[in-house]
Amino acid sequence: MRKLVFADAHAHTSPEGLGAYKVASRFREHDGWFMALVMLPPWHYGVSLSPKSLVEGYSKAIEIFLGECSAAREAGIKVSCLAGFHPAEVDKLIGIGVKPEDVLALAEQVLEMEASLCRKGIIQGIGEVGRQHYKTMPERVAIVTSIMIKAFEYARDYDCLVHLHLENAGYVTVRTVNDLARLVGVPPHLVVFHHASLRVAEAAENNGYYTTLPGKKELLSRAFSKNIPIETLLIESDYIDDPKRPCVSSCPWEIIENELALMREGIVDEETLFRINVDNVVKYYGVEPP
Ligand SMILES: [Zn+2]
Repeated sequence: MRKLVFADAHAHTSPEGLGAYKVASRFREHDGWFMALVMLPPWHYGVSLSPKSLVEGYSKAIEIFLGECSAAREAGIKVSCLAGFHPAEVDKLIGIGVKPEDVLALAEQVLEMEASLCRKGIIQGIGEVGRQHYKTMPERVAIVTSIMIKAFEYARDYDCLVHLHLENAGYVTVRTVNDLARLVGVPPHLVVFHHASLRVAEAAENNGYYTTLPGKKELLSRAFSKNIPIETLLIESDYIDDPKRPCVSSCPWEIIENELALMREGIVDEETLFRINVDNVVKYYGVEPP
């Protein structure tokens, strides 16, 4: 039997927290082999933003993020890196007094930098982009929708991966994103519905999209008991490496412990975990198997 090893398909690290080297090392000690690192908003890296220094702030954040990607690789795991413009960043920037039209222009500039890094192979994709999962103003939803469309265009043109942060409204979430993705012509196999609910995961799978399911024991247990299709399923910690909030939503090594516990309890078998943690990761991220 092939050795069972584990992947974290969506996580964040920050030098303000444990940092990528420590996180990846600890993940590796638990038989972790692969992590997808996704850029955090600049303020998580200790970069303060003022309306006058937005582009500089974002350039600095991207630089710090690239450093985190290198550090994780130095710790001996395989890594894919995605940088985006999180929907919450739109709300935050408008909140500090940046005009909506300037937020949109900034997001387009940031996405252009990120797409160019992806085209050169320095990063592997764009993420997170998408829609707010909480109540906000309609014009802010309009702005994030334009950002998502832009990300789809770059993904289509440069063969970049995309991680979507969305509202988890089941069929409607997947259907409305699918409509946009088809208009743009981005292939579904490049797109992840991140932090998916089981209903979103099933609808996404039916349309050929990938999903990352949070590696919470209770959620995974329901997923495996319901026998949801695993053809395009991945598991994530969505760890944010914030020293003030350790292990929200999970620490990367906790998702491994949860998967192992479910296997011991007979809720999932080793073959299924192998397909999710190795085969699907190799397919989606295009990395060499361990
Ligand atoms: Zn995330």
